[in-house]
Amino acid sequence: MIPDLRLGIDIGSTTSKAVLLDEEGRFLHAVIRPTGVGGRAVAGELKAEILKEICGKEPASGSLSLRVVATGYGRALVDDADRTVTEITCHACGVRFLHPDASTIVDIGGQDSKVIRLDDTGRVEDFGMNDRCAAGTGSFLDVMANRFDLDVETLADIHTLNPTPFEISSTCVVFAETEVISLLSLGHDLNDVLAGVQRAVARRVVPLVKHVGLKPPVYFSGGVAHNETVRREIESALEVPFPRARRAQYTAAFGAAILAGD
Ligand code: ADP
Repeated sequence: MIPDLRLGIDIGSTTSKAVLLDEEGRFLHAVIRPTGVGGRAVAGELKAEILKEICGKEPASGSLSLRVVATGYGRALVDDADRTVTEITCHACGVRFLHPDASTIVDIGGQDSKVIRLDDTGRVEDFGMNDRCAAGTGSFLDVMANRFDLDVETLADIHTLNPTPFEISSTCVVFAETEVISLLSLGHDLNDVLAGVQRAVARRVVPLVKHVGLKPPVYFSGGVAHNETVRREIESALEVPFPRARRAQYTAAFGAAILAGD
């Protein structure tokens, strides 16, 4: 019998992800790559990589049946997708599948942040998005980490040394970089300043959550959900538990793979 597989591909601004499910919707495998400048090529590479992983070699043509749903800002670049679906719908579907009790989702990716509120059946009730400004997104953290020759994981660990960081007030990443340099020139500790950078990212998302309306339980998805400092800062501002979603960076790809089964 020819296996019937479901593939979700999320071409994000920073990373591209693919999730493969079997015909029963069971998880088989996930892969991730930087999007770079070639979203179209990355989509093909993700598909080849994930199928090779599952089949042990490149599958012969006609040896499996594959339904593909593409999402993410670069979804139109996935040439052989059966259909495309918005990230909002895919995040909702993916997070709700991984956490059936989810009522609100906060997603912080490379270049945007989103808040999605769900109704009791898991449908999108309302959402809000910031994709105009780097503040409150992963790229703000990437620029700062890069400026000080750190990786984002190391930056995320910095909170442990600094219980009371101050906040960086600039919303524009270019001005924030200048602000950071000027604080350092005044003799402030680099760890304090970088903890303040992370607090600033967390605090930028809170008004969006309040605008859309928070209905607990709320889950944190997107690559920045791996940053424990940002997660705790948002949790303390929202005053409700704010756990990281399972497979946090893959939730839209997960949702796309589930929708490929419809
Ligand atoms: P997009 O879907 O918009 O391309 P992602 O959801 O993949 O974005 O998130 C990318 C962002 O996640 C990066 O900008 C980076 O700052 C952050 N990130 C990824 N992994 C980690 C990690 N392990 N620790 C902290 N931050 C991370």
